[in-house]
Amino acid sequence: MKLFDKLYIDGQWVNSHANKLLDVINPATETLAGQAALADEVDVDRAVSAAKNAFNTWSQLTSAERANYISQLARALEKRIDDLTNTITAEMGAPLGFCREVQVEDPIDALAKHADRAALLDHTLAIGNAQVVREPVGVCAFINPWNYPLHQMIGKIAPALAAGCTMVVKPSENTPLHAFILAEAVHEVGLPAGVFNLLNGTGAEVGAPLCQHPDVDMVSFTGSTRAGIAISKAAAPTIKRVCLELGGKSPLLISEDADLQAAVTFGVDDVMINSGQTCTALTRMLVPQSRYQEALSIAKEYAESLSVGDPTDADTFLGPLASREQLDIVQRYIRTGIAEGAKLLTGGLEKIDHLETGYYLRPTIFSDVHNKMTIAQEEIFGPVLCMIPYQDEDHALEIANDTPYGLSARVWSSDSAKALQLAKKIRAGQVYINNGDWNNEAPFGGYKQSGNGRELGNFGVEEFFETKAIIR
Ligand code: NAD
Repeated sequence: MKLFDKLYIDGQWVNSHANKLLDVINPATETLAGQAALADEVDVDRAVSAAKNAFNTWSQLTSAERANYISQLARALEKRIDDLTNTITAEMGAPLGFCREVQVEDPIDALAKHADRAALLDHTLAIGNAQVVREPVGVCAFINPWNYPLHQMIGKIAPALAAGCTMVVKPSENTPLHAFILAEAVHEVGLPAGVFNLLNGTGAEVGAPLCQHPDVDMVSFTGSTRAGIAISKAAAPTIKRVCLELGGKSPLLISEDADLQAAVTFGVDDVMINSGQTCTALTRMLVPQSRYQEALSIAKEYAESLSVGDPTDADTFLGPLASREQLDIVQRYIRTGIAEGAKLLTGGLEKIDHLETGYYLRPTIFSDVHNKMTIAQEEIFGPVLCMIPYQDEDHALEIANDTPYGLSARVWSSDSAKALQLAKKIRAGQVYINNGDWNNEAPFGGYKQSGNGRELGNFGVEEFFETKAIIR
């Protein structure tokens, strides 16, 4: 069991003002995964003040100096890959192998690549008698979710460090433990005091005061659209920059000419990894009516071959849902789907025989789903796929774009020109074609209610700059 009984503020491990510990539950065993110090509003003030004081010196370092710290931090995290993997698996249930590769190694790689981006701050542009320069936006507050916790954290910390910003970081109260390991790495590399501060706490007690704080210049938030709205409102009176990475209800548009076996198995896989708790999950599979029955049988067979179980077991594909609360939410959506007339093709609410303990669910697929049903419109955030038939490509595009979200999408076709045309007509921040792979250099973010910012690569760093015109 992990115990982190101090917060990390101003380069030191300090007692929290609240003097309370938060229990973190392992969703596979329902026992304690660890405990972490809980912060309150007084700690928010201390951390913001430390970040404000550090800003003047940190923002004046050379790009090479900041790049060097970023590289060192990536190396310090590499030494902790096992610890981070075991801890994230214990706090949110992702199977170990997947957790190591996707939740830990991938974000460390993304961090290392940001060393070179520190030089973006030095770019200038001449426009007539104006010299346009970039400056770091200032003190940032980062508020994070629990589903890919290190990934999302690094997605904010890495560009902020590169851009010369200082920060106060709040992980989700469901999964704070990995963030304390990150703070240990920060301390080991000797990042100047106050550049990185870690507060663990709830949205109400730590998140909201951070958003309202007059000395915070920017809030970057990843999480639900519900909390994103609350955060925007809380930040409005102080005119902070607010970057939001929110929910999704992403479509996989399978074209008439697609390799159906490949497309459908990819789509089921994509929804079920991380037990469906992926913001970009392709939770609506759009299939031509003429191939719908064939697609259903491929999807059913494949979903039933996926193993559900102990996330520390090498054969496990789906671990538990991350919390009892998340399990309850997903079960409610499954009941709603049935009540609204969708057909349960496989999975559902029945308990899994060999799993008495833990928040497990079977991979669940609904057929005969109409896009206006609740399960096709709202983000479920569990291993639940909706299969929706369409008549022709115009109809498919209409369905693809008919949700409040626009985070991600995928088009599957053997005709690459057509796939590109379809991709351009989908309103989403990322559209993949066929089995195109994740690229942590490419801009990532949402249209519509999926958010308003872009993370990763050079685009992600741009979010952290102010633009100044010096005119002679
Ligand atoms: P959540 O919105 O409940 O919580 C996220 C964070 O916000 C937590 O740290 C929480 O403490 C904090 N918070 C909650 N209410 C707040 C408030 N009023 N003020 C300030 N902070 C507040 O989300 P979650 O359940 O942790 O994560 C799941 C959600 O995150 C899903 O909707 C998923 O799609 C989304 N997500 C989006 C992306 C993306 O990049 N677009 C990535 C991962 C997850």
